[in-house]
Amino acid sequence: MRAVEVLPVKRIEMPTPYGVGPVNAYLLEAEPLTLIDCGINTPQAQNALFLEIAAAGYFPESIEQVLITHAHPDHYGLVHVIQEAAGATVYFPEREIRRVRDRQMLFEVGRLLMEAGMPLDLLFKMDQERKDGPRPRLDHDHVVPVHDGDAFTFEGDDGEFTLTAHLMPGHTGGHVVYLEDETRTMFAGDQLLPETSPNPLLEPSLDEPGERRRSLKEYLGSLARMGAMGLQLVYPGHGDPVTDPQRLIESMIEHHLKRKAAVAAHLDELGKTPYEIATEVYPDVRGYDSFLAVSEVVAHLDLVVEDGDGTVDVRDDVTYYRLTTT
Ligand SMILES: [Zn+2]
Repeated sequence: MRAVEVLPVKRIEMPTPYGVGPVNAYLLEAEPLTLIDCGINTPQAQNALFLEIAAAGYFPESIEQVLITHAHPDHYGLVHVIQEAAGATVYFPEREIRRVRDRQMLFEVGRLLMEAGMPLDLLFKMDQERKDGPRPRLDHDHVVPVHDGDAFTFEGDDGEFTLTAHLMPGHTGGHVVYLEDETRTMFAGDQLLPETSPNPLLEPSLDEPGERRRSLKEYLGSLARMGAMGLQLVYPGHGDPVTDPQRLIESMIEHHLKRKAAVAAHLDELGKTPYEIATEVYPDVRGYDSFLAVSEVVAHLDLVVEDGDGTVDVRDDVTYYRLTTT
């Protein structure tokens, strides 16, 4: 069979209760009928998903497989619904399964936030918000792990095509993107977004217990790899398709360099916690968004320290960053 020139993709937008706005899933109208990501576990998102599947001429039961990009609730929250409706096979990034399964990770994130100077009452409030919010359900034992390099082959009306999984850590530690080689089309999850920069989140390292992963460094490394892939079209996890991925990748790198300088400008010679800096950089942030703000600051401080412009001191288990004085 000949190769396709345009992938048979239908974008499905679903609401989320998050600041980021709606989330995308993509229906691949080919054999096997496939969803890439699947929205958050709320009745509104499920309605939107099922309506769009019906509008395309299918039933939820027709979905044969689901490919997940990363373990955030807005991307995999409805996976159990599709699985139960259709017995669809769920492919989930291997490192992300580990992140979801390991309850210890949650405590570790809390510990990292305390180290970053976040007050305990705010930490409790955030945890309550998380518990009250929509929760995904993942049957760990019935998902197929996706590894870097795994390939998925499809037959569409206009030809066949293959998606290859690429491990792209950054936004999360085990984030996977799916690349179609011939058309240079990528399903990028939250690795490349048109309207916002994906948060490099504060997360414990999967490989080194007790360590924190250097999320922004990982993210910039993944971006550089994406930049070398000759991408023509990117289907992001949020927002419209990206028709000039190269330019977006370059502007994203530039954005982080500017943000690094902006964060560095808040350092003084006495030292501040990342939480203190986050409240200066983002004074209006509340609740769960404080986690995003602190993550963002810590991630950029890593680069400032690496450049030699900042120094880390640990006092009473809390991390302080100060200007490097020569
Ligand atoms: Zn995400």
